[in-house]
Amino acid sequence: MASDRKKVLIIGGGFGGLFTALDLANDCDVTLISDTDHFTFRPLLYEYLSGEVEAWHIAPDYKELIDDKINFVRGAVEQVDFEKQSVTISTRDDSFNYDALVLAVGGVTNFWNVAGAEENALPFRDIADADELRNQMTRALDMISPTLAPQDVREKLTFAVVGGGASGVELATKMSDLLTDAFKQRGLKGEPRVVLVEMSDRLIPGMGEEARSYVEKALLETRIDVHLQTRVLEVKPHSIVSEHNGEKLEIETVTTVWTAGVKVNPLIEKLDLPKAENGLILVDQTMQVQNHPNVFALGDIAKVEEVAPTLNGTAQLANQESALAANNIRAFFDGKELKTKPFEELGEALSLGTHNAAVLVAGNVVGGSLARDARFALYTARLPTWHHRLKVGASWFFEGTTPRPLQPLGYTNN
Ligand SMILES: Cc1cc2nc3c(=O)[nH]c(=O)nc-3n(C[C@H](O)[C@H](O)[C@H](O)COP(=O)(O)OP(=O)(O)OC[C@H]3O[C@@H](n4cnc5c(N)ncnc54)[C@H](O)[C@@H]3O)c2cc1C
Repeated sequence: MASDRKKVLIIGGGFGGLFTALDLANDCDVTLISDTDHFTFRPLLYEYLSGEVEAWHIAPDYKELIDDKINFVRGAVEQVDFEKQSVTISTRDDSFNYDALVLAVGGVTNFWNVAGAEENALPFRDIADADELRNQMTRALDMISPTLAPQDVREKLTFAVVGGGASGVELATKMSDLLTDAFKQRGLKGEPRVVLVEMSDRLIPGMGEEARSYVEKALLETRIDVHLQTRVLEVKPHSIVSEHNGEKLEIETVTTVWTAGVKVNPLIEKLDLPKAENGLILVDQTMQVQNHPNVFALGDIAKVEEVAPTLNGTAQLANQESALAANNIRAFFDGKELKTKPFEELGEALSLGTHNAAVLVAGNVVGGSLARDARFALYTARLPTWHHRLKVGASWFFEGTTPRPLQPLGYTNN
C-alpha cells in the first residue's frame, strides 16, 4: 500500500526535481511541489520567442507528464523544518512531512544591484518573460512607419541584451533575425539594432577557439552590435548607461533584457544549511546536503566541489544529478551504500538565430542548418517522458519548426 512506502518530498519541478520525481515514482510515495503548473525546458526558450516551437512543446503542464503515482501540489515552499522533517507552502495551511527531501528550486535572475536593472530590465527565464519580450518587440515595430528615415528607425528600434554568455548570444541572434525578418515583411527602411553588452573581454568564456570564431562570425552576420569590456551602470526604462575604458555611454533602447547572471532562489537563502560563499548549498558527491543525510539538493542551487566549473548551472548537470539522487534515495531507504558518479560534459548546442546553430562536442564545432536540426533532435531526446518526446518529435517532424513572424498586433492568419 502507498502508505507503507517512504515519503519523498521534492521541491521544484525543473530539470533536477521533475526528473527525480519521475525516476522514483514506482518506488516511493513521491510528492512534487512546484510554484508553477508546468515544467520549462529553458534551453528552447529562444525558439519559443521566435515561434519555432510552441508552449506545449517546451512547457508542458505537469499533469501531462506525471500520472497518479506522483502527488502534485502547486504552491511556493516558504519554509523547511529539518528537525520536524516538514515543509510549509504558500497555498496551504497544513504542512508536508517527509522521510527524504529533495531541494531543486533552481536559480533566479541576478541583477547584481545595478541601478534600475531589476525595475527596468526584462529577465529571460520563463515562458512569461519570452511572451513579454515578443510583445515589446511587436509593439515597437508597430510604431514604425514605412516612411521613417533609416537612421531614425535604428534609433527607435534598438534593443539591448546584457550578458555575453551563451544565453545572451543565443537571445541576441534570435532577436536580430526575428526583427530583420519583420522589417522585410513590413517593408520598413533601414535595420533594427541589437546591442550585446559584456563586461569581460570575450563572449561565452570557456568556449574553445574554433567555436568562438564560429560564434563571432554568426554575430557579425546577424549584425549584432557587440560591446566588450563594457560595464552597465544603470538601466532606465528606455536607455542603458554603460562605461567602457572610463567613458560613459547612454544608448536609447526599446527595452533591455538581462541575461547577466543567476543567483540562488530566495528560499535557499532562508534555509539553515551548509553553504558556499555564493550561497549555493554544499552537497556531497552522493547529492546529500552536508550533515543532512536525508536531504538531497540538486541543480542550480547545489555545489558539488568535484564538478567541472563549466558544467555548473546547466540543465545537463541537473539532469545527471537527478538520476544519481534517485538511485541514492532508494539506497538510503534500503540501508545500502550510497554511490558517487563523475558527471560528464555532454557537449553544447547553441542557437545562433532562426536558421543557424552550433553544436560543440569535444572542442569541435558543427554549424549551419544541419546543426540547427541536430539541436532539435538532441533536445527532443532530453525532454521529459517518452510520451511527450514522441508527441513533440512528431509535431516537429510533420509540422516543421518555421519561425512565426512578428505580425502587427491584432493580426490573425486564419
Ligand atoms: C534561457 C535559458 C537557457 C538555458 N539554456 C541551457 C542550455 O542550453 N543547456 C543547459 O545545460 N542549460 C541551460 N540553461 C540552464 C538550465 O536551464 C538550468 O541549469 C536548469 O534549469 C537547472 O535546473 P534546476 O532543476 O536546478 O532548476 P529549474 O529547472 O529552474 O527548476 C526549478 C523549479 O523550481 C520551481 N520553484 C522555484 N522556487 C520554488 C518554491 N519556493 N517552491 C516551489 N517551487 C519552486 C520553479 O518554478 C522551477 O519549476 C538555460 C537557462 C536559461 C534561463
